[in-house]
Amino acid sequence: MNYSMKLLVTFVIPFQILFGWGNTGHRIVGKVAETYLTKNAKVQIKKLMGHHDLSRMSNWADHIKSDPNWKHANDWHWCTIPDGEDYEKGKHKGLAAEKVKEFITVLKKRKSTKEEKQVALKFLIHLIGDLHQPLHVGNGEDRGGNSIQLKWFGEPSNLHSIWDSKLIEYQNLSYSEYADYLMLAEDRGIIRQWQADSLLTYLHESRDLRNQCYKYQKEDLKWEYFYANKSLLEQRLYQGGIRLSGELNRIFK
Ligand SMILES: [Zn+2]
Repeated sequence: MNYSMKLLVTFVIPFQILFGWGNTGHRIVGKVAETYLTKNAKVQIKKLMGHHDLSRMSNWADHIKSDPNWKHANDWHWCTIPDGEDYEKGKHKGLAAEKVKEFITVLKKRKSTKEEKQVALKFLIHLIGDLHQPLHVGNGEDRGGNSIQLKWFGEPSNLHSIWDSKLIEYQNLSYSEYADYLMLAEDRGIIRQWQADSLLTYLHESRDLRNQCYKYQKEDLKWEYFYANKSLLEQRLYQGGIRLSGELNRIFK
């Protein structure tokens, strides 16, 4: 590796690694959530944003990462709960949980300005999605799998990015096709239950579920890994959407 390549790896990669579910993953979460919004929520979101297409709002929080004015928001997309611990505010790095709570408060507050509410909504849509990606609740040892260099069908990648996007892309479905496909399994009872779940519930689920992401024999992940993890991946995308709808329905009553 020559010097300029090294520079690239040192400075460019750390910024890339911060992304959560890729564009498609966040749009899937947005589409599922929008499907389960109440009429009231749709009307109020449209009043605030001009439309209630949550997929369209779902990636803004990643896109602003290239804006120096938003540099302070880079650690809002993930949190850390080491194995065997429960979430504790401020104990470990990553502010996603605190920010979810904060944005819910902003959206509920009468006194918040329209602009504050717009920012809060876009972040909330994104962060509830991120927190369902099991590796966004990191163990504190490998930057949510970003430090684990692997291959995906022979191409250099890392564990985190395989979960953010490679597994999703492998399906070759558009976000709306994928969302429709996930919603085929609709069970109203389970949906109501998931909608009522709290932030702590899905934080701890991600902590427990992430162990499965680490189960592989070879460094070059292929079909076997996809097959072994497809249902976990889809469960988390689907649950992310349902939990988001529950949160938004409670906010926009
Ligand atoms: Zn993110």
